[in-house]
Amino acid sequence: MINWIEQINRCIECDECMGVCPTYRATGEYRFSPRGRLESAKRLLAEDILDESMIESFYNCPKCMACEQVCPEGIETSKIVAASRNRIVEKGRGPLEPHKKIIAGILEKGNSVNGDPSKRLDWMPEPFKPHESETLFYAGCLPSYLVKDSAVYSYLTLKRLGVDFMMLEDEGCCGTYIYESGEVEKAKDYFLKNTERFKALGIKKLILPCNGCFKCFKYFYPEVLGSIDFEVLHVVEVLYDRLKGQPDILRKVDREITYHDSCRLGRAEGITEEPREILEWCGASVKELPENRGNTPCCGSGGGIRSVFKDLSFDIAKDLLNKTPTEELVSPCPFCTFNLSYTAKKGALGKNVTYISKIIWESLK
Ligand code: SF4
Ligand code: SF4
Repeated sequence: MINWIEQINRCIECDECMGVCPTYRATGEYRFSPRGRLESAKRLLAEDILDESMIESFYNCPKCMACEQVCPEGIETSKIVAASRNRIVEKGRGPLEPHKKIIAGILEKGNSVNGDPSKRLDWMPEPFKPHESETLFYAGCLPSYLVKDSAVYSYLTLKRLGVDFMMLEDEGCCGTYIYESGEVEKAKDYFLKNTERFKALGIKKLILPCNGCFKCFKYFYPEVLGSIDFEVLHVVEVLYDRLKGQPDILRKVDREITYHDSCRLGRAEGITEEPREILEWCGASVKELPENRGNTPCCGSGGGIRSVFKDLSFDIAKDLLNKTPTEELVSPCPFCTFNLSYTAKKGALGKNVTYISKIIWESLK
């Protein structure tokens, strides 16, 4: 068990993390900054002190890890926030009402977006056909219901490139929301059901278009269950491997775009050059945000914050969109695509946000 207090005590108060924190930038409030959260975590985890303002500061952190990227002491603030949420739940003070509603929806309907289970596969561009494979394409809730392009074009592109995979007719949810709310024990039960199902089906590899599912299966599952016996890949990794030997199968579509590195693929995994290469093979002229790659600003929707702190998510996304140098922004994350598209439309910011697989599909000859 990691000693979070020992980590917090390592802080040398250099303030490197303060200027990169999206919630501190958006609000100017110290309690919504990395140092503010570390102080609150110390009070909660070491002294068992908790007040409403602390609860808000733990639940409105998108766990973007921008602070960790720059911290000279290697302090894992996003994990300390997760441990604090878990303690809040243990003390009976969390999760928050919107989280409870979403968790109830996951347990009742098998998805986190209140979707009709009978319409789960409505996104599919062709009728579902049962097929056996050791590789599972797991679309995820957001792609299946709200960001259908990310499911559709990932599915079509994988098929066109000859990737063999199966799908589940009644896929269900990865359970990331349950974990993110701090309900780790509930998440454990849910994760176990999914892993047992995968085992019974002989699944050895997951391909995911959703970064929420990706992080959950790759990191939360082994953290909570001890280990997993399947490989977890983001669709961008699979498509890059398929395309790198044959980029000339892509038709050059002349367009200027900005690529946004999602926190989970860019900062956490270091997968920053592969998507840019793919976009260039597609003929795109790739422009950059002033802060990019490992330093890219969060879109403001991660860590389960958007359903509770919508205005904060909007402000963070608006700042990012205003810094985007082109009309088109390309994302490898359905959460970012959703929040940035919503913000661009609501704020009339004149930006289009496209999920990366759609660009690839449009370029395939
Ligand atoms: S994880 Fe992101 S939002 Fe949370 S404290 Fe760190 S920089 Fe701020
Ligand atoms: S960057 Fe790390 S050491 Fe510096 S103030 Fe932030 S948490 Fe403390």
